[in-house]
Amino acid sequence: MGSATVVLYPFPGIGHLVSMVELAKLIHTHHPTVSIVILIIPAPFETGSTDKYINTVSGTTPSITFHHLPTITLPPDFSSDFIDLAFGIPELYNPIFHDTLIAISEKSTIKAVILDFFSNAAFQVSKSLNLPTYYFYTSGASGLCEFLYLTTIHNTTSMSIKDLNIYFDIPGVPPIHASDMPMVLFDRESNSYKNFVNTSSNMAKSCGIIANSFLGFEERAIDALRDGKCIPDGPTPPIYLIGPLIAGGNQVDPSENECLKWLNSQPSKSVVFLCFGSMGVFKKEQLREIAFGLERSGQRFLWVVRNPPPDDENESSSGAKELDLDACLPEGFLARIGNKGLVVKNWAPQLAILGHDSVGGFVSHCGWNSTLEAVDAGVPMIAWPLYAEQKMNRVFLVEEIKVALAVEMSSDGFVTAESVEEKVKELMEGKEGRVVRERILEMSGRAKAAVADNGSSQVDFFQLMQSWTEL
Ligand code: UDP
Repeated sequence: MGSATVVLYPFPGIGHLVSMVELAKLIHTHHPTVSIVILIIPAPFETGSTDKYINTVSGTTPSITFHHLPTITLPPDFSSDFIDLAFGIPELYNPIFHDTLIAISEKSTIKAVILDFFSNAAFQVSKSLNLPTYYFYTSGASGLCEFLYLTTIHNTTSMSIKDLNIYFDIPGVPPIHASDMPMVLFDRESNSYKNFVNTSSNMAKSCGIIANSFLGFEERAIDALRDGKCIPDGPTPPIYLIGPLIAGGNQVDPSENECLKWLNSQPSKSVVFLCFGSMGVFKKEQLREIAFGLERSGQRFLWVVRNPPPDDENESSSGAKELDLDACLPEGFLARIGNKGLVVKNWAPQLAILGHDSVGGFVSHCGWNSTLEAVDAGVPMIAWPLYAEQKMNRVFLVEEIKVALAVEMSSDGFVTAESVEEKVKELMEGKEGRVVRERILEMSGRAKAAVADNGSSQVDFFQLMQSWTEL
């Protein structure tokens, strides 16, 4: 019984998994004798990239083990909604999770159980076993202010967010219009809304909340969290800001990769990189608009393009088809662009690209990993949110932290070629662009200082580990 174990229970989507694995590596670096068990359940969607990622990191750190929980059959009437599945599958796994914790604790002392917010159903299990339970919030401190304050919003509002035309005054962050709140919260009667509210309230009862950010990046939000303003009706658990946790090490060979080779031929800080996370897709009409905007901007660019979603009128399942760039982009576009731009299909090594000297700007969907990667590399952003909490992130990044400009969007999310052209030019050459360029360089310096010896993130991480010893 002498050994110690920390159990991590991530959501198996790449955007959540990667930073949880980085947390595991950090624990290993400072406490190599602690065993870290990462529980993996089936993802509620195609898992190609998750499986590939786990295969790459599996076995590279001796104390970290991926434990794949056995497959179970979903009840036939189970909701097919992504968020319902993300919360619902861990709930079905509760009995297996319980038995797994018992089995681990027969051999070792479980010092901490760390849950992704989608693994919220497991909170009751680990609490019932009296195990110290923490949440790992894979986004930043500003998002966490909203997440924790959701309980208060719920208790003081009777209408669904979709029916409100107001700005929410959430401690620690700029006012957020109802339409910029995560869409999954729009309908008060939906399962996803209830799951988020329940998670918000459980997080408040946990032993601590870990977030992927750092003090110098989101100071006001962190102050509000630590002053207890986001949980006004009760105590706030300790908040640990231990980021930026960025996945390195599994990138590509620079002499082999077409993006990196192409970037080598471009002038310093001249290229705008466009990439929209692991799930961002655009309709053909929007792809064409981006293409026209980029062409007219006259800027160099590197653009990751995915298959448009199935077109209701003409096709039933274009998602499965090989991406045909000529069919998606304006006629003659690729030929006219020549060496001034590179369009790559589906996936590019984003981290290495952002770190390349030729990249001077990043059009991003404001996913949190992408945001931290851009901040770390000192690359200013154009915010083009698509899903999850990204519209809220845009507000934080543009209005509060001032490291991004925003594209103008219609209410259905459409962005015109003019807006693309204008913002790209502004970011790369304009006055507003210069402000965000300087600001992000400052933040990049702060990010590096935060994770260095005695930096704020390292101090928070040591406090987190200290809390396990005390418990
Ligand atoms: N990513 C990448 N290449 C791509 C698209 C995404 O390497 O073509 C990586 C990106 O570097 C980031 C992650 O996938 O680490 C996306 O996470 P994020 O939180 O930004 O967005 P999500 O995919 O969760 O919406």
